Amino acid sequence: MVEAPQTVQRVHVLKQFFLPARPGIADAPVIVSAGRGIASQKNLQLVVELAGLLGGQCGVTRPLVDLGWAESSWQIGQTGQAVAPQLLIACGISGAIQHLAGISGARKIIAINTDPDAPVFSMADYRLVGDCIPILRQLIRFLRQ
Ligand SMILES: Cc1cc2nc3c(=O)[nH]c(=O)nc-3n(C[C@H](O)[C@H](O)[C@H](O)COP(=O)(O)OP(=O)(O)OC[C@H]3O[C@@H](n4cnc5c(N)ncnc54)[C@H](O)[C@@H]3O)c2cc1C
Repeated sequence: MVEAPQTVQRVHVLKQFFLPARPGIADAPVIVSAGRGIASQKNLQLVVELAGLLGGQCGVTRPLVDLGWAESSWQIGQTGQAVAPQLLIACGISGAIQHLAGISGARKIIAINTDPDAPVFSMADYRLVGDCIPILRQLIRFLRQ
């Protein structure tokens, strides 16, 4: 028989706590997602901040993962996660078929894109044609107040 090491014998477990698993984007009620239109990793922080203020999570398109700006668990789409939030805000995302495959379960979609013909608008409930950066800043300012 192998004896337990001395140090282990002195440990008395009084109570056990389990850290809750960080909820993944698949279960998030709100997702603010970013695509290449976000332009820089620094701007991605705006998306993360807005998602936090809305009690949600941040999602991304595959190019942002490929660029190393976000971890692959954040990727939405055919080769990423399928999501079904109550609200999804898509920022600077063109709406490639491989991405749209992952957001068909979203209840309401707000899309922000400078291109009025962006395919993402075909799935959006609310369409904002414009630069997503000042819109994100404005939304963050509004929610902070
Ligand atoms: C086999 C395969 C699997 C794939 N799987 C996935 C997947 O799971 N998920 C995924 O996302 N992609 C996937 N892709 C990649 C996919 O085809 C697209 O290339 C990708 O989704 C495009 O990402 P994007 O929208 O960020 O970039 P882009 O297509 O480059 O779009 C950028 C958008 O930003 C807009 N824009 C630019 N500046 C601004 C601004 N200031 N404000 C607002 N809008 C702006 C532009 O008008 C454009 O519409 C896959 C591809 C293949 C071949």
